[in-house]
Amino acid sequence: VIAATRHMEDRNQVLEARLKESAHEIESLKEDVESLRHEAMTDALTGVANRKLFDEEIRIGAAEALDRKMPLTLLMIDIDHFKSFNDTHGHQVGDQVLRFVARILKSCVRGEDLTARYGGEEFSIVLRDTNLVNGAKVGEHVRNQVSKKAVVNRATGKSLGTITISVGAAEFIPGESVENLIERADEALYAAKNKGRNRVEMGVAEADAQPEAQQAHT
Ligand code: GH3
Ligand code: MG
Ligand code: MG
Repeated sequence: VIAATRHMEDRNQVLEARLKESAHEIESLKEDVESLRHEAMTDALTGVANRKLFDEEIRIGAAEALDRKMPLTLLMIDIDHFKSFNDTHGHQVGDQVLRFVARILKSCVRGEDLTARYGGEEFSIVLRDTNLVNGAKVGEHVRNQVSKKAVVNRATGKSLGTITISVGAAEFIPGESVENLIERADEALYAAKNKGRNRVEMGVAEADAQPEAQQAHT
């Protein structure tokens, strides 16, 4: 009996050790999955959210705004005359500018707001629980912060002067599609460009912006 008990105890110890090892492995796999998920949702150049995450988050945000009857404002941001900046200073310095702008955008918003690289030299910010007037204020803050800081060429330490951004703001109209919201923010952005750049324009809630169900009939 004693021998049999010892044998069982030994086996138990072996099994316990294996279990611990497996738990460790699972933990490390979980961490791998989490970091891959994060990487898949992050823009490699700037470190802000990528387009994929933006597409997801704007939908979640719009659904939440509709559900809880909360406002939501979208900012579309585009760097002014970026092509000529690239042509003058080169693509690598252009990349530095993208990182510089992304850093400022992130520093200007709350943790629950999403800053994303929408594409190329365009960024977007989803402002939860924020109406158009307050959203435009955030846009103005961002615009001001970008315009007052000089870009420094990391390689040479030389100042490259300042750059500016144009911002279009649109507030979510309950029932409109996310595509419609993005289009209205884009129109406001183009208005800001047309009015001379380095400015924030607010999108007007057009009278014919209709709920999705009604749009389907047109
Ligand atoms: P506007 O004020 O009207 O926005 O003028 P713009 O020159 O900024 O606009 P345009 O759309 O003509 O040029 C966008 C430029 O952005 C062209 C492209 O070279 C640059 N760009 C887009 N993506 C990147 C990138 O990842 N890195 C760098 N360095 N440049 C980029
Ligand atoms: Mg552009
Ligand atoms: Mg541009």
